[in-house]
Amino acid sequence: PPTKLPKVGTTIFTEMSQLAAEHGAINLSQGFPDFDGPLALLDRVTYYLENGLNQYAPMAGVMALRNAIALKVEKLYGCTVNPETEVTVTSGATEALFAAIGAVVCPGDEVIVFDPAYDSYEPAIELNGGTAVHLPLRAPDFAIDWSQVKQAINDKTRMIILNSPHNPTGSVLSSSDLDQLQALVKGSDILLLSDEVYEHICFNGPHQSLLRRPALAERAFVVSSFGKTYHTTGWKVGYCVAPAALTTEFRKLHQYLTFCTVHPIQLALADFINDYPEHYLELPGFYQQKRDLFCQLMTPGRFRFTPANGTYFQLMDYSDIQPEMDDLTFARWLTTEVGVAAIPVSVFYQSPPEQRLVRFCFAKSDDTLREAAEKLCRI
Ligand code: PMP
Ligand code: GLN
Repeated sequence: PPTKLPKVGTTIFTEMSQLAAEHGAINLSQGFPDFDGPLALLDRVTYYLENGLNQYAPMAGVMALRNAIALKVEKLYGCTVNPETEVTVTSGATEALFAAIGAVVCPGDEVIVFDPAYDSYEPAIELNGGTAVHLPLRAPDFAIDWSQVKQAINDKTRMIILNSPHNPTGSVLSSSDLDQLQALVKGSDILLLSDEVYEHICFNGPHQSLLRRPALAERAFVVSSFGKTYHTTGWKVGYCVAPAALTTEFRKLHQYLTFCTVHPIQLALADFINDYPEHYLELPGFYQQKRDLFCQLMTPGRFRFTPANGTYFQLMDYSDIQPEMDDLTFARWLTTEVGVAAIPVSVFYQSPPEQRLVRFCFAKSDDTLREAAEKLCRI
């Protein structure tokens, strides 16, 4: 049969996790914690499961959860949103990204993405007849070159997709990045899609959400995920904050993609956010300790790296270890021969630059990190 997505195969996350399982390797590839979410949150899920809250949730999300999201956004980013008309709970950030792109990208539209780009953006753009315009982020800081963005913008540009803190590089947008973005889109009808799933895993200063800037928020879909924040990636619950007119279009897709998101978990999340707001405030410290431990354990080895500014990922340069090997081969070799799985970075580029980088996930118990680093420092 004809394929609508000729460039798409099985995702690197599936490939590397499978390879890790087959070879009994420590899996630092696909991003997920090897520890559980907070007990008080799990208890609330059990409560709702056992008390008959197992039928459809409201289409746009449980009101208590939308209220909690609106409160958080106001408290952290000073952005007042209407939970009735501007907040939608989705089945993971993945659904939100897909719905936002599908809601506004039309055949012939161009969408600017920054490489290395998370892998779900481009297929969604292509399925809607759009074209992804790839702009490279360059090592070592992987910052956006705004003059390049300015050059790439034309009258077909429908959307710019941002991701901060950034997967896989761990870079973060600064307040001056937001200034530049604001100046660039002023007076245009370009929309923004901001993937902020790691919003609470930001190490040097507060997260620069697009919601901090009314001039950006008025044209943005801002997406986040409870999977990252509460160590529950398997629940697939996320959300999208967008102005009412954009949310109306967004919900047209959401209601036919999934209709609604898992009910008892939404109720539990609402209780937990209200009862334990300190949890997400403590997350940067929690993950910074893990980043620092992993970096310290890796220092005696031959990988080169600069500690990540955000996310639970750490890039490592293996040029001094296997300079001849491309990163996919290296990641496979590391998994099968060394016993630690990683993600090659070139798969997230349209035109991969000459670099030797792999990504390790440090959302792991201290013991797992020690065991992995010991193996990695031996090569
Ligand atoms: N965007 C980025 C940058 C991610 O790393 C992830 C993690 N899988 C997602 C979106 C998707 O999040 P979710 O698991 O909530 O669908
Ligand atoms: N976001 C996760 C990562 O970057 C993976 C999610 C997935 O497996 N699709 O590793």
